Amino acid sequence: MAAKTHLFPCLSDNFCVLIHDPATGATASIDAPEAAPVEAALKETGWKLTDILVTHHHADHTAGVGELKQKYNCRVVGPVSDKFRAVDETIREGQTLKVGNLTGRVLETPGHTLDHISYIFDADKICFLGDTLFSIGCGRVIEGTPAQMWNSLLKLRALPDGMQFFCGHEYTQANIKFALTIEPDNKALVARAKEVDALRAAGKPTIPATIGAEKEANCFLRADIASVAAAVGMAGKPAADVFTEIRARKNKF
Ligand SMILES: [Zn+2]
Repeated sequence: MAAKTHLFPCLSDNFCVLIHDPATGATASIDAPEAAPVEAALKETGWKLTDILVTHHHADHTAGVGELKQKYNCRVVGPVSDKFRAVDETIREGQTLKVGNLTGRVLETPGHTLDHISYIFDADKICFLGDTLFSIGCGRVIEGTPAQMWNSLLKLRALPDGMQFFCGHEYTQANIKFALTIEPDNKALVARAKEVDALRAAGKPTIPATIGAEKEANCFLRADIASVAAAVGMAGKPAADVFTEIRARKNKF
């Protein structure tokens, strides 16, 4: 049976999402920004929390973990991290995990933080990317280097086009404003802008999005495209350097 997901807002602009295995009833929360909205989501869906999958140590992704663990006695899986150690099991790239009968694997995606990992459920064509890839954006490079972040984004860009991704924040509209300064004539980006404006006007989330659509419209995944390099005055320069320049411009935007 295919996985079900349930997306809901937390804090001011965080997303949290549950992934549920209908065959076994197992349910994982991807991160836990705060306990109360996760509990409300469990009540609404009737699902029972069995696992929390942590993407990285930041408090706006982990502050609810302790309380939920205590209440539901769920398993906490997370990255090898010297900043967030309240996990039952650590997981590294190349290892798999089970949520009921669902099988996930991990990609190590450092850059935003050094401990950042992403969870990929290949058979269900769903992945959870935390603060590495946002729709039409990417996470701020806080602990790693821009080159490391670019390498992490390349791993995510290599996922199948049809794979849906969830991310940790609703930043899409602001990201599009910036992306249009880099690629004002990108038709996929202009179309995504219209779609996102309509979704936000209706009070709806702009994710999940697909990897394939993102490759067409997200300038942070397009640093190795000649027209993007040229747009920031870096024709012929290495992609990691072009990415670094785009990320620096976004920080000042
Ligand atoms: Zn973060």
